[in-house]
Amino acid sequence: MKCPKCNGFMYIERFLDYSIVFYGWKCVNCGSIIDRTVLANRNSQASLFFKVIPQIVEVSNN
Ligand SMILES: [Zn+2]
Repeated sequence: MKCPKCNGFMYIERFLDYSIVFYGWKCVNCGSIIDRTVLANRNSQASLFFKVIPQIVEVSNN
């Protein structure tokens, strides 16, 4: 996963939005965060995102 802004390396991080925990991509270069809401508007990248995230959520819940 590369940052759409600076093409830097992105890693998956857990975020807390009020009481909702979600996972998103964060860029190590510019700090850009891509979450489900952002990706919902980017169909080309959303497919990649949702292939990866559900697996991680399942592991963390166990
Ligand atoms: Zn970036």
